[in-house]
Amino acid sequence: MCSAAWPGLPDRAVLTCRVVEPDLWCRRCGCEGVARGSVSRELAHEPLGWRPTTLIVTVGRRKCTGCGHVWRQDTSAAAEPRAKLTRTALRWALVGIVVQHLTDARVAVVLGVAWDTANNAVWPRASGS
Ligand SMILES: [Zn+2]
Repeated sequence: MCSAAWPGLPDRAVLTCRVVEPDLWCRRCGCEGVARGSVSRELAHEPLGWRPTTLIVTVGRRKCTGCGHVWRQDTSAAAEPRAKLTRTALRWALVGIVVQHLTDARVAVVLGVAWDTANNAVWPRASGS
């Protein structure tokens, strides 16, 4: 599904993906949607070794031929809505903090995100809620 590329940035790996599930049908009326371009969603992903890794997901947009509803392909398999980290990155961070006793700051550096981004994403889970 993913292909690796390192476009001139030795300190960061970039993975590009597309959403595989085509998501063709309108959830409101059941008609078929026609392609309306795509958008990119950028997520912090599980590091490759200790190299920060950015996952860029290309998300197709569609417009319903019946009711005009516009939607994007579902990316919930990769990350929660509005999340900046993939599910894999979150799991990596939790293991790092709980098992390997990495600090929050270290986790943020290796994920390549701001400290508060990592902190907000990880701690609600680490505390068991
Ligand atoms: Zn529709």
